[in-house]
Formats: sequence, structure tokens, C-alpha cells
Amino acid sequence: MKTIDIIVPCYNEEEVLPLFVKETNEVIATIPQYKFRYIFVNDGSKDKTIEVLKTLASRFDNVKYISFSRNFGKESAMYAGLKNSTADYVIVMDADLQHPPKMFPQMIEGVEEGNECCALYRAKQTGESKIRQLVSKVFFSFQNNISDVKMPEGAVDYRIMSRKMVNAILDLSEVQRFSKGIFCWVGFKTKWIEYKNVERTVGTTKWSLWGLFKYALDGITSFSVTPLRFIAVMGFIISMLSFVYILITLIQTLCFGIDVAGYVTTLCATLFLGGIIELSVGILGEYIGRIYIETKRRPIYIAEETNIDNEDNV
Ligand code: UDP
Ligand code: MG
Repeated sequence: MKTIDIIVPCYNEEEVLPLFVKETNEVIATIPQYKFRYIFVNDGSKDKTIEVLKTLASRFDNVKYISFSRNFGKESAMYAGLKNSTADYVIVMDADLQHPPKMFPQMIEGVEEGNECCALYRAKQTGESKIRQLVSKVFFSFQNNISDVKMPEGAVDYRIMSRKMVNAILDLSEVQRFSKGIFCWVGFKTKWIEYKNVERTVGTTKWSLWGLFKYALDGITSFSVTPLRFIAVMGFIISMLSFVYILITLIQTLCFGIDVAGYVTTLCATLFLGGIIELSVGILGEYIGRIYIETKRRPIYIAEETNIDNEDNV
């Protein structure tokens, strides 16, 4: 019998977890040809998530958990889940039921058709604020235009992957992980299917607008050096324009003598160049910061406790 591990990162999800397991179990019961196992990753929750997980584990044999020593973020939680998975297929999904488990049969069909992965994208972002939708739109078009990884607009971290693909993902050992990009970067045949976005019924979203912005910036800098090239091109263009302007000024001065006026020109040039320099240093800084963190080679997560024993992992 083929096995499937379901990886679920959880941060303050005490309310939704029992409901999540109930609904998912109902779906699993309709697919008896596969053996399912849950790997919940408690990402340093401040509520009773870990107690809820322990209760669930005592009720259901196939509920496994890993608990972090602090909040490391969803990316680290997903990595920990993948690292501890052993099944033939691995599903990654959110705990809040925004990723409906009823998609399982269709997803499994997707990989059984000969794809290494079947991933989902949101049909329509109902229930999200206009500004969020805009951030998301700008992000996807930027990402697709300037980096090596391409993904449909609305792509989410809900997917099923083969063992082969999971192993490839685990080979990418970067500390600052941007899974949406990593999933695409490793390649492999992926089938994209659409699903209807569901509003979160219990608990609240963990994302602030600033958080989303940082996430988008991470995504872009992780998979593209285009911003760095942009600085070089901009520098070149400005140098050319300056050269022309210098020539004009020189000729004017030689032919008509020194003209004292020019306060506005000087001020504009100084402010403009100042702005451009600040921007360039900022972009450079983004990359240097990433290099700095990456060179420390710190672990991606620190687990405090787990009920996965080594026998589970063979
Ligand atoms: N999550 C996590 N660590 C964090 C933030 C979120 O493990 O630091 C989990 C969270 O419990 C949920 C998933 O990541 O299962 C997605 O989070 P959320 O629903 O807040 O994001 P959204 O759906 O709004 O993008
Ligand atoms: Mg959510």
C-alpha cells in the first residue's frame, strides 16, 4: 500500500486542529487505497497547540508531531515536516482549513497520472482586502518576470509531491527558505489545479501587511539578481546623461562666460543622485544581509520534542 504524509505547520492553531483532523479524516476514509500519516509541526505556538496535538496523538495512531523550541516561521516548519517524512507522497497544507482536504482525491489523481507534483492555485481571492490583492498581484507579476521561477498567480503552499521531488527539495539547504520558489526551482512535472479560496473560520491570519511585503521581497531576492543588474543599468544611463549635460554646460560656459544662476539645477541633481545612491545601497544591503545570514549556517529549526521515533523513519 502506498503511503502519504500530510505536513501541517501550526502556529497558534489550538481552536482549529480538532476540526482539521475531523474533516481530513473524513476525506481520508474515502481513499482507503493509501495509508495516511499526519506530521504536525508546532512552530513555537503561544497557545495550547501542543497540548491539543498530544491529545490528538493519543486518540489517533497516525498523528505525529514535532514541536519547535520557538517560532521559526512557516518555511522552517514545512522544512522540518519534509525532513521527517518518509512516505511515497507528501502533502503540504495549512492547518486553518483554508486548504480544503476534499481536494485530496484530485491531487492524488494528479500525481498518479505520472506527474511528480500536483499543486493548487486560488481561483479568486474573495474575502481579502483590496490592498492585499494588489500586493499579491504585483508580487506574482514581478516574480514571474524577473526570476528563474515561474508560477501561476495565486499559487499557494498546498500540494502533493513525490518522494523524488521531496528529496530534491531537501537538497536545497539554504537557511532563508522561500518554498514557493524552491518548489518551482527544483523543476519536475507539475500539474496545477484550481481551487476556491475558503475564508478562515477559526483563529486569525498570522500575516501582517508588512510581513507580506517582507515575504515578497524575500521571494524576489532569493531567486533573482535582476535588482542588482538594474542598479548597474541605471548607473550607466545616469552617467551618460550627466556626460551630455556636462558637455552642454562646458560649451555654454566657454561661449557665453560663467553664468551664476543654476541653483535649481544643482539642487535637483544633488537630490536626484542622492536618492538613486540611497536606493542602490539599499538594494545592495538586501543582498549582503542575505549573504550574512546564510554564511552563519545556523540550523533551520530546533526541535524540542516529537513523538516520531526512529522506527517511524525507516
Ligand atoms: N504558520 C506557522 N508559523 C508561522 C505562521 C504561520 O507555522 O509563524 C502556519 C499557520 O499555523 C497555518 C499556515 O502557516 O497553518 C498559514 O498561516 P496563515 O493561515 O496565518 O496564513 P494565510 O492563510 O493568511 O496566508
Ligand atoms: Mg490561512
